[in-house]
Amino acid sequence: MINYISTRNSSISVKASEAVIQGQAADGGLFVPKSLDDLKIDYHKIVGGEDFNAMATAVWNLFLDDYGSEVISALVEKSYKGKFSSDKITPLVKVGDAYVLELYHGPTSAFKDVALQALPNLLTKAREMNGVKDEIMILTATSGDTGSAALSGFSGVDGTSIVVFYPDGGISETQRLQMVTDAGSNTSACAIRGNFDDAQNGVKKIFRELPRPAEGVALSSANSINIGRLVPQIVYYFSAYRQLLDMGSIKDGDLVDFVVPTGNFGNIMAGFFARSMGLPIRRLVCASNKNDVLTEFINTGHYNRLREFHKTTSPSMDILISSNLERLLYYICGEENTAAYMKQLEEKGEYQISESELDALQAIFSAECATDEEGAAAIKRVFGAEKYLMDTHTSIAWVCLDKYERATGIPSVVLSTASPYKFCASVLAALGLETSESDRDNMRICHEYTKAEIPSGLAGIWDKEILHKDIINPNDMKSYIIEKTSK
Ligand SMILES: *Cc1c(COP(=O)(O)O)cnc(C)c1O
Repeated sequence: MINYISTRNSSISVKASEAVIQGQAADGGLFVPKSLDDLKIDYHKIVGGEDFNAMATAVWNLFLDDYGSEVISALVEKSYKGKFSSDKITPLVKVGDAYVLELYHGPTSAFKDVALQALPNLLTKAREMNGVKDEIMILTATSGDTGSAALSGFSGVDGTSIVVFYPDGGISETQRLQMVTDAGSNTSACAIRGNFDDAQNGVKKIFRELPRPAEGVALSSANSINIGRLVPQIVYYFSAYRQLLDMGSIKDGDLVDFVVPTGNFGNIMAGFFARSMGLPIRRLVCASNKNDVLTEFINTGHYNRLREFHKTTSPSMDILISSNLERLLYYICGEENTAAYMKQLEEKGEYQISESELDALQAIFSAECATDEEGAAAIKRVFGAEKYLMDTHTSIAWVCLDKYERATGIPSVVLSTASPYKFCASVLAALGLETSESDRDNMRICHEYTKAEIPSGLAGIWDKEILHKDIINPNDMKSYIIEKTSK
């Protein structure tokens, strides 16, 4: 049985299903498998699976062992069957001299669907297993994509409700419409007058101060700090490897690099787990936009959130505190140092890891960053040369692909995290086309020019009724939740 412990104190220890219910450890740390040795597996057992669902079942079985394998198979099926527009779930495409792993074929056209179609099923089963009678209220801060994916995942799921906070003006029109038109009777979306970090800090504060906002209601998280979100993301690293084998692009055992557009460090952390399990990954390249806090950290060991916050055209990566990094710190620095660094981050806004810790980090991770302008140029260049259209997050990773030190004969896989139609205005501008005030027109123009298909989930949002209209100050988030649960 795998024990999940707090990154700050290994004496806090729970089973997988309990970690899924709790979301975050009571001391503010994040749940992680105590030792990477517990995760060692013959990767052929996963890569050899019949399809994506078989690979997912093998990965979930390892990490979520207390669910039992029959339950896991059923949950995987329920999470993915008929939900994605590609039968590969996460198809791999060759683009130029690299590969793109398209993670955005789910209901809301962003990679977060892979995890958030799964989490509600993992959570409701975990409640049943642990005899939890409380209703679970999911509380989430979003920089855009988490919100719609979480609302879509939890919409209508019995025994749960969900409240999503998003930065007012900090997300695209399309993203906003996806959220505020959600018709689930158990869903709410609320704008915050602030940025993503304000929203996330507000949510963290509510978890600390208000774990039970009302009688019979317990809080849980759908942010990528929940282990139930991270585990499903591990699967597509194996799926990518399998597809490279099927294409004849690698031989079994060959190493592969992954370039990951990074915000909260969840996606790339899943890659670290895949690598720790034995998947032949050489390097994980952390790609950032102008908010380059992780680039500096991975290159110098100095994490410093005391810097200007930039609003970019890749808003899902506009982050100064990457929560999931704490999980990596635990494996590299140990629980005591992790607790100390997190305290310094909270109190002083910065910390510096040791020389030897930095060496361990750099043995696996590289880091690069790119500006909006570089990303836009990449969108235009790659569309011109390859007729392949990327969104603004993927294009940041594409630029980083060109910047990092590649090794001859080792293929690079760029993770593509959103459909270009989700950030259509920026994509059009990058292509040098005129943009309209309305995303609806932009989608049409983009389609006419590129012939790329508009995802069905995005094509219909314009005619839906706006159901969620709340906007509040960050300081009022707690009372907002109290009010919601008292109804
Ligand atoms: C969430 C998101 C990211 C960042 O992923 P993390 O797991 O937070 O690092 C990148 N691109 C898009 C489109 C996203 O929605």
